Amino acid sequence: MGEREFWRENGDYLDSVMNTVNTLAEDTYIYILHLNRGMAWFSETAKAYFGIRDTYVPDHYEIMRRLIHPEDLWEYEEGIPQRMQGKNLDRELCVRMREASGEYHMFSIHTDIVADLKNAEKYLLILLHNENVLPRIDALTDLYSQARFVSDLGTEIGNKGPFAVLMIKLERFNNLNIIYGNEFTNRLLKETALQFIYMMDENSAVYRLDGPKFGFILRKSGRMKLLVFEQMIRGKLAKGIRVDNQKISLKICAGAILIEQYDGKADSLCSKAAYALGHSETEHQGKMIIFNDEVRTSRNVDLELMKVIHQSVREGCKGFYIEYQPIVVSGTGHIIGAEALVRWRREPYGTVPPGRFIEWMETDPGMYELGNYVLRTALRETVELLAVLPEFVLNVNVSARQMEREEFRAEVLHILEQTGFPANHLCMELTERCKDMPLEAIKREVEFFRGYGIRMAMDDYGTGSASSGIVLHTPIDEIKLDMSFIRGITRDPKKQAMVKSIVEFANSCGMSTCLEGVESEELQDYLRMYQATWFQGYYYSKPVEIGKLMELVRDFT
Ligand code: C2E
Ligand code: CA
Ligand code: CA
Repeated sequence: MGEREFWRENGDYLDSVMNTVNTLAEDTYIYILHLNRGMAWFSETAKAYFGIRDTYVPDHYEIMRRLIHPEDLWEYEEGIPQRMQGKNLDRELCVRMREASGEYHMFSIHTDIVADLKNAEKYLLILLHNENVLPRIDALTDLYSQARFVSDLGTEIGNKGPFAVLMIKLERFNNLNIIYGNEFTNRLLKETALQFIYMMDENSAVYRLDGPKFGFILRKSGRMKLLVFEQMIRGKLAKGIRVDNQKISLKICAGAILIEQYDGKADSLCSKAAYALGHSETEHQGKMIIFNDEVRTSRNVDLELMKVIHQSVREGCKGFYIEYQPIVVSGTGHIIGAEALVRWRREPYGTVPPGRFIEWMETDPGMYELGNYVLRTALRETVELLAVLPEFVLNVNVSARQMEREEFRAEVLHILEQTGFPANHLCMELTERCKDMPLEAIKREVEFFRGYGIRMAMDDYGTGSASSGIVLHTPIDEIKLDMSFIRGITRDPKKQAMVKSIVEFANSCGMSTCLEGVESEELQDYLRMYQATWFQGYYYSKPVEIGKLMELVRDFT
């Protein structure tokens, strides 16, 4: 009788039972040694995970020699023969084993003997348990862990039904830690977790993520259910969580994502919810942000792309380069300067304009690196222009992520020195996005840089509430009027009044003005009556690479 038939006859139910057990036991792989014959049977999951071809194998040592790390092989070769004789069955072996992709993981090997008395057959049952897998239970709260959150999201994606993912973070938790101490806040987390457990039903599950963050999966949930659930959580926490004799009332920020049908990975669902949570925290005072509507559609953020761009910044700003858009004297149309505008290019994405990533980058610490890269590169590339056009002024956009860093001052001075670019030919443009910084801090930085002769401009003036505060309270040299005031101005008396009054205001305060978005000759001619200092727009030139800028400057002079 062949080996295959033997297994069939002796246990045709064995295969299916073992395979079922194996599917249920997560991260554990089973095989059985038939002790009388020395033959091994590998379960389907073990075969798939380790890349074993055959189910029935006459020499399991040969297979294991291929899978177990050479330094650990002796454990197996000494340990298994003992267990085959029934010795040390309760003691586990530890070895590194290679999965099909070639990567090693730590495995514990557990064994037991099963006897078929009727047929006088004996089997050694061997369980290989992957120890590298992250714990599925959070040790502090006993809730499911982050790893389990991700794997359950994967399952939910596979189920193809609608569901909602909610991530919350307890606000000001670090403060509580400082005031009450670590032991207290740990108990607070445990109690909070317990309250969450009480709220769950058969369609919801709660998970402890890192620190004071929790995740929820709400099956069969649309927007209404999500909103109701969120209110329930807020209500519960606002009433207070009791630890010892104290009741601590907690606030949260919340990010969510609603899924109808999703083909992506669980990981990226997680980052989207985390992204929404971040927004809730930094920009919406904790109000729940739902990724689908508020974040993705209003900002058109492509998170996969952001990840690649972020990585490019970390790789020394790989793929970034600079284009320059001429700035001209309003009365004559002669080039007097240029604005440096960053771009990113990489296959298969092609060239990506800053409108698609700057706003997002400004929430990322990498913006500091990127901003300095732009400054350094632009000054280095344009310094030669000064020989051709001695009045040339280079405008560079500066973000809050740069201005708020103490080292930025020294960095700017260092770049000026390195490139030999004269400070009084550099103009730094601040945008509305600097509004996160306290006015006092902006003022200090503006004064510092002006002290070195650097010009300072307020970009996109009039588009937000912060710009007039900055212009009023800091010694700004120049105002750049946003394109939105220029577009359609000839037919719009309100825009006309606005531009007129802003230019007059600037003139009477000794500030220069630049009108952006001058797209045609007619517009240029019309705008001249406002007496602004400079113009910038497609009529003169679109942003161009440095070589082309040189040509344009030579043509004009
Ligand atoms: P911005 O500073 O207001 O720059 C002007 C934008 O308007 C540029 O878009 C430019 O190409 C575009 N533009 C210029 N003339 C015309 C015109 O006549 N018509 C129209 N329709 N558009 C015109 P770009 O290069 O896409 O830059 C978008 C924004 O990205 C910039 O707006 C700026 O806020 C930001 N940005 C660009 N480079 C940097 C940088 O190096 N650092 C920082 N922090 N922000 C940057
Ligand atoms: Ca600008
Ligand atoms: Ca602008």
